[in-house]
Amino acid sequence: MIYLSGGRRIALDERSKDAYLNFISHAHEDHLAGLRSGLPATASRETMELIKARKGVSPAMAETGKGFEMLNAGHVLGSRQLYFEDEYNGISYIYTGDFQMQENELAGRIEIRNADIAIIDSTYPFPNVRFDERTNVIDAIQFYARKKTEYGRVIFSSQVLGKAQELIKIFNDIGLTPVVSERIGAISNVYERFNIKLDYITADEKTFIDKVAEQRIGITENNIKYAAERLAEKYNTKVYTAIATGLAKSIRFGTDVQFALSDHADFRQTVKYIDEGNFKYVFTKGKNAEILAYYLRKAGYDAEAMENGSSIGGVLTEKQKSGDNNLNSQIV
Ligand SMILES: [Zn+2]
Repeated sequence: MIYLSGGRRIALDERSKDAYLNFISHAHEDHLAGLRSGLPATASRETMELIKARKGVSPAMAETGKGFEMLNAGHVLGSRQLYFEDEYNGISYIYTGDFQMQENELAGRIEIRNADIAIIDSTYPFPNVRFDERTNVIDAIQFYARKKTEYGRVIFSSQVLGKAQELIKIFNDIGLTPVVSERIGAISNVYERFNIKLDYITADEKTFIDKVAEQRIGITENNIKYAAERLAEKYNTKVYTAIATGLAKSIRFGTDVQFALSDHADFRQTVKYIDEGNFKYVFTKGKNAEILAYYLRKAGYDAEAMENGSSIGGVLTEKQKSGDNNLNSQIV
C-alpha cells in the first residue's frame, strides 16, 4: 500500500476497501486480491478479459487518471507496471508487478521509465539463480518435443496462464498442435481475441488422454503423473512427462525432464532493470522482499523491503523540505 500526500491510498495487487486506486498488475491468482475490495479495478483490457475467463467475474474498470500511467511488464498477456506521481511533492513511483527483462513474444517487451522510487517484485531474489537465454530454452523444449513425439507421447505440466500459451506457440512452431485442459483452453481463447494466433485442441478430463494419443502432445495443470499412467496403459505407448517453469532452477519436480523457462526476472535482470530505470531508491515487494533487498544492498543499491512498514521520508529530502507533514508519502 502506498499513501500519497493527502492520504490517498494506492493499492498494488492488494485488497483495500478505501483505496483511491485499485491496481491489478496482471491476472495471475496471487495478484488478484484487489478483486475482493469491491472497488473498480485499474488494469489493462487484456487483464480484465483474462479475469473474466478465469473467475467468471467482470469488475468495473477505472481509468488511471492524471499522473498515472500503465507500462508493459513483459510477464504475461496484459501484465502492466504502474507509474504514478504524488502531485503535492512531485515524487514519482513505479511498481513493477511481476516482470521480466527478456522478451517474451506473447507478452511483449517491457517498457522502462525512470522514477524516483521503484517498487520491485522479488520472486527470484538469489544472485545464484540465473535464467538462460529464452531462445536456448525454447530450442531445447522443441528438440525434446520433436524427438519424443516421434515414437511416444509427451505431457507437459504448466500454469494455466502465460506458460501454457507460450508452450502452445513453441509446439505450433514445430508443427505440433497440443491438446490442452479446459482451463488452459479458456485462457488461450482470450489470447486469440487479442490477435495471438494459437493452434490447440481443448479436451475435458475424460477425453484428455484419448486426444493426446492422437495429437501426441498435451499440456495440463492437472496431475500429469496419473494422466501419463492411464495413457501408457490404454494405448500401450511410451509417455514422457515434462514441466516448464523458472522454479526448475531450484526445485526438483517429479517429471522425466524439467525446463527452466521463466516469465520472471532473475537477480541479474532485476539489477539491469534498476540500472536502466536509474531510480533513487528501491523497495522490494513480495514474499522474498527481505532477501532481494539484502542482495541489492550488497550490490551497492539503496534498497529495503516494503514489508518493513517503512516511510520514504529522508530518502528524498530535497523534495520534502517544506516541512509540511502532509507532504510525506508513506509505503506500508
Ligand atoms: Zn505473475
